[in-house]
Amino acid sequence: MGLVVQKYGGSSVADAEGIKRVAKRIVEAKKNGHQVVVVVSAMGDTTDELIDLAEQVSPMPSGREFDMLLTAGERISMALLAMAIKNLGHSAQSFTGSQAGVITDSVHNKARIIDVTPGRIRIALDEGNIAIVAGFQGVSQDKKDITTLGRGGSDTTAVALAAALDAEVCEIYTDVDGVFTADPRVVKKAKKIDHIAFEDMLELAASGSKVLLHRCVEYARRYNIPIHVRSSFSGLQGTWVSNEPIQQGDKPVEQAIISGVAHDTSEAKVTVVGVPDKPGEAASIFRAIANAEINIDMVVQNVSAASTGLTDISFTLPKTEGRKAIDALEKAKAVIGFDSLRYDDQIGKISLVGAGMKTNPGVTAGFFEALSDAGVNIELISTSEIRISVVTRADDVPEAVRAVHTAFGLDSDSDEAVVYGGTGR
Ligand code: ASP
Ligand code: MG
Repeated sequence: MGLVVQKYGGSSVADAEGIKRVAKRIVEAKKNGHQVVVVVSAMGDTTDELIDLAEQVSPMPSGREFDMLLTAGERISMALLAMAIKNLGHSAQSFTGSQAGVITDSVHNKARIIDVTPGRIRIALDEGNIAIVAGFQGVSQDKKDITTLGRGGSDTTAVALAAALDAEVCEIYTDVDGVFTADPRVVKKAKKIDHIAFEDMLELAASGSKVLLHRCVEYARRYNIPIHVRSSFSGLQGTWVSNEPIQQGDKPVEQAIISGVAHDTSEAKVTVVGVPDKPGEAASIFRAIANAEINIDMVVQNVSAASTGLTDISFTLPKTEGRKAIDALEKAKAVIGFDSLRYDDQIGKISLVGAGMKTNPGVTAGFFEALSDAGVNIELISTSEIRISVVTRADDVPEAVRAVHTAFGLDSDSDEAVVYGGTGR
């Protein structure tokens, strides 16, 4: 029996009952002969509540203090979980990210893991303990300050520890039974996916599927760590994310053409209006954005309807970066030489993902037909080999997701998509 890393999300440990339920599950794994490392998130909506609190005290808190504050959420749940496990007669020790050897760069609020040195975790395990690690946090290599990995970062902590400890599997426990063909909060007829390749999961995550974060999947693919996404509220098998070919009986099963439909309403659209149509313009716009450390998503350039010799460039980015992007562009206005900026945060993105679409004609047409039948207007389009994404009005998103899900035959006959907890916040 090898080592397993289990990660429990905030909704699985939302209250004392939840913590006790999770503790029982962890003890089960230990009793089955595994060495168990547990990564835990902050209870329920604690992180959001701490953020609200910070905003009331200061509109622009320093990154260092913000991280100090947010990491407190995970410290509460890790200590309570260790106590609950001890109460069941098993030994457990909790560790902060820093104590667990999660070393990051020093970019507060979205630090990247650069090394994991889990010496203390190894010792704790060898002494027969269950090790509980606070998710979503680390310590910066140069300044030795506490950092956080960005929202939802506990998944990344879990996979990083699984890689460093050479775990058999990284189990991600959440409030749904696995990865579904669409968000079960929006599509009641979403189907659970039994197995999905890293590549498809990466695209789903990049397209807004919230069940696993892109960075976590990227990390798992790099170190080839199989992820098992499952519910902490049921005993069901969840979704395996790995590179293993899908086996059913003794013959490999052909990959589904479409893995799923993802949506994202966390982005906004910036349009730079009246950009001179000459070489170097896009470069200076996106250099200004990059210098502000903002990641963008889709980019579209159009000949301006307004005047000749000018183009409009639109791009999407996280709403949370909107202010920063507008400021950065305003500052560079003289150099770039555009007319004006437009900002629109009432957009949503719908994406159809599947490795099978590169060899199946008609997927793009079917996608647009489904949207048109649902009366949804498309504003931006972008495609990759295994994904098609469109931007629409935010209000149209739920309807559009359901229409596309049905059109591609993804609806299940049973209502298997159960949401056990969480506010989806
Ligand atoms: N508690 C953090 C958050 O809510 C980290 C996590 O849940 O993974 O973003
Ligand atoms: Mg959380």
